[in-house]
Amino acid sequence: MPTPGAFDLICLGSGPAGQKAAIQAAKAGFSAAVIEREPQVGGSCLLSGTIPSKALREQAVRYRRMQGSASSLAVELRGDAPLSALLHGVDAVIAAQDRYLQAQLARNQVELIRGRGVLLDAGRIEVRRLDGSSRVVQAPRIVLATGSRPRHVPHVQVDHEHILDSDSILSLSYLPRSLIVFGSGVIACEYASIFAALGCSVTLVDKAAEPLGFLDSVLRASFLAAFQAMGGQYRAGAEVRSANFDGFSQVEVRLLSGEVLKADIVLAAFGRIANLDGIGLDKLNLGITARGHVQVNERLETTIPGIFAAGDAIGPPALACAAANQGRRAALAALGLPPPAAASLVPTGVYTIPEIACVGLTQSEAAARKIDVVVGRADFAEVARSHIAGEPAGFLLLICERGSARVLGVQAIGEGATDLVHLGQAAIATAATAEFFIEQIFNFPTMTEAYRIAAFDVMKQGAMPQAAHLKLAHAAR
Ligand SMILES: Cc1cc2nc3c(=O)[nH]c(=O)nc-3n(C[C@H](O)[C@H](O)[C@H](O)COP(=O)(O)OP(=O)(O)OC[C@H]3O[C@@H](n4cnc5c(N)ncnc54)[C@H](O)[C@@H]3O)c2cc1C
Repeated sequence: MPTPGAFDLICLGSGPAGQKAAIQAAKAGFSAAVIEREPQVGGSCLLSGTIPSKALREQAVRYRRMQGSASSLAVELRGDAPLSALLHGVDAVIAAQDRYLQAQLARNQVELIRGRGVLLDAGRIEVRRLDGSSRVVQAPRIVLATGSRPRHVPHVQVDHEHILDSDSILSLSYLPRSLIVFGSGVIACEYASIFAALGCSVTLVDKAAEPLGFLDSVLRASFLAAFQAMGGQYRAGAEVRSANFDGFSQVEVRLLSGEVLKADIVLAAFGRIANLDGIGLDKLNLGITARGHVQVNERLETTIPGIFAAGDAIGPPALACAAANQGRRAALAALGLPPPAAASLVPTGVYTIPEIACVGLTQSEAAARKIDVVVGRADFAEVARSHIAGEPAGFLLLICERGSARVLGVQAIGEGATDLVHLGQAAIATAATAEFFIEQIFNFPTMTEAYRIAAFDVMKQGAMPQAAHLKLAHAAR
């Protein structure tokens, strides 16, 4: 007879990391529980991050397409359009996901415990409820999956009314006429391009020379050109000294250079920090990295035996897909079960407008490793589907080893890039060559035609000796 409140494994947090860790444990036949302080399960991924931001993006993409269509379809957003109208339906998406995730936990017999969890020691957690009551639960294995929240800096006071962060931007009552975004990372660029597409005058302000500095230069330059074409501006090498609401209608931003910028709204996107406050770390000697993340080893175990951690709490890549994978791995490691085969390929997806994705080796990484590569290019202007979708801008690059034409990497920007990249990922994982994309029959018209075009470009550059039938096929293009 199991002891009430005692489990084989407990997860603190119900985001992708906590959910997947608990479900993995339950599927392996262990008793598991998830502690969540919010009314809904799903974490920031569902409530304020991935899902709502992508829903707003979808509306911005639709709006831009409608505007670009024939005049009979042209639409104009009112200057004071409520953002809630654009987010119409997001609440329903969140509620449906919340119901689905709760049902999934229940189906797998994972107990969902409501309240704020505070670690008492390496095996016990006190759960404090809003009504002031509490209970103590215990497990020999704990997975910390408390996620992250927006990072604030002392010289910029986020008031959630005029100066917002990535959580409060979604509760903005009206679409602003002008927006200044601090930062040049993924969240800053995603929101900057979404608001620019909605007709807002957007200025990105950051120290970096270019936005999205972690991407290869060809993608960075292409994003910047598209952002500027939507009226966006990027202020490189700019450091913010202060940002204050003028008490009337605008926020005044002072740069270290002395320059003053003004906008209706400011979005401060200075990155994210791990949610570790108030979870009882004062009583435990848990190792924390210099960047404030939970320190883990390759098994995702913290410095305290029996306590594991996963997701944003352990730092980059801070993606929902990575968090889910780490959660599963942490549970298996905690339970002494063999880990799944290591995922050597993690794609990058950036949901800016236009969207960007890459997987495998980039050209610069290939050069650094002295790998001789051939890069095949497909401009989306050559792809029938992109014209049908009204998004003919963008391209796909197929990075192949010279000599064998083996696919080593894919980079894409434009319509469907974040989905399109997975076909390239499969090619890399199965050691396919560029020829694969020429020999296979894909549905037409689809964006996958880009792979075929890029593969022909690889062959044209003599990446490998061409078979006679390929020469014929190439001649026919
Ligand atoms: C604007 C934005 C856009 C994003 N877009 C994408 C994207 O397009 N693709 C992508 O892959 N990722 C995206 N991300 C990142 C993604 O949302 C996170 O990487 C992911 O949610 C991390 O999952 P997690 O389980 O570690 O934490 P979270 O999802 O943050 O969940 C942590 C949970 O723990 C709970 N919790 C914390 N402390 C306690 C406590 N003491 N007691 C009980 N419960 C507690 C919290 O309430 C929360 O529910 C985005 C993030 C943001 C902010």
